[in-house]
Amino acid sequence: MIEYRLNGPVSQERQRIRLMAALRENRFPQAILIDGPVGIGKKALAIEVAKALQCSDPGLRPCGHCFGCKMAVDQGVTENWVVPMESKEAHAKSADEVSAGSSAKTVQDFKQAYIEEIFKNPYRIDIFSAGAEISVGLIRSMTAAFALKGDRVRVVIVAEADRMNDSASNAFLKTLEDVPPNTYFILTTSSREKMLQTIRSRCLALHLLPLSDEEVRSEAIRMLGEDADPDEVTEDAVGLAVGSPGKALYYVGAGKRWCEMSASFVKYSLLSQYYELFEMLSEAELEDAAEANRFLEVLSFLLSDLMRAKSGAKLRIPATTALVNIDAFPQVDVPALERALATVQETMSRIASRRTSPMVLLQSLSIKLFEGCR
Ligand SMILES: [Zn+2]
Repeated sequence: MIEYRLNGPVSQERQRIRLMAALRENRFPQAILIDGPVGIGKKALAIEVAKALQCSDPGLRPCGHCFGCKMAVDQGVTENWVVPMESKEAHAKSADEVSAGSSAKTVQDFKQAYIEEIFKNPYRIDIFSAGAEISVGLIRSMTAAFALKGDRVRVVIVAEADRMNDSASNAFLKTLEDVPPNTYFILTTSSREKMLQTIRSRCLALHLLPLSDEEVRSEAIRMLGEDADPDEVTEDAVGLAVGSPGKALYYVGAGKRWCEMSASFVKYSLLSQYYELFEMLSEAELEDAAEANRFLEVLSFLLSDLMRAKSGAKLRIPATTALVNIDAFPQVDVPALERALATVQETMSRIASRRTSPMVLLQSLSIKLFEGCR
């Protein structure tokens, strides 16, 4: 009898057991939708399932060395993937349209570069730019490749499937209504509510859970590689990540500056030092709504931690929280911090609506933040 063993973090063992049972009992659905928060390893699980489905080992699957397993991890086999792309990339010529020896980048070249990034670090949360989407052309070139297939099992991973635009969604729905034999689709998303209900209802839903803090730390260290200093994955980065190694890596890298900045934001606000505060904001160049809200997410964590500090509870981001000497402001009590947190949440939704410049909203937030307790 064939045994299946899907590898992954212990926190997600239950979901994998479900999939392994379906594989063993030969009732694996033709389409599954893996959803869950960003950066928790949905693409990594999709790759593991693709290997198991394509593996031909008579004993244990995925074996890792048969032809099917190798195909599943061959980053040059671009037809195994549908990924969001920027418009100019998706409209580049196809490999069969350019003459041999041409140096022009093809749509397959762009796609392969994305696939390589996914394999390098499947947890990464910023592989695709905000404007990248799955266009109908990308869905059509995937279905066109079905004509070329032999009798081997084919698995297509649709990464960040919520980025399908309307016409792509409709084209994909047609494909799902009549899935070719021996073909499986694995979709991943962190925003399933943005997907067509008719697509969702045709996929087996699999909700992937966040990892434990210990797993977040060890996975983030593993992704940083042997040469990196494990201490880079700080307690604060793990605290901010809430179960997502991808987010932890973001806070070790590009998001690192938000911690110190949120502490300064609170201090300047408490001391009414608006000149310094506005200068800090303009240096940070927070004109992008998504960036501004990532900063405010950290600020929310800091305010929650300041409340914990008041009650002596365990802190989630101790190093950042220590930067604000909250004991020096006895007038700032828990209700004042709760009000401040609500004001931050309100600003986040106003920034997300994109009607006012983030900079203006951040400036007015700094003035309102501790109104009445100075
Ligand atoms: Zn194999």
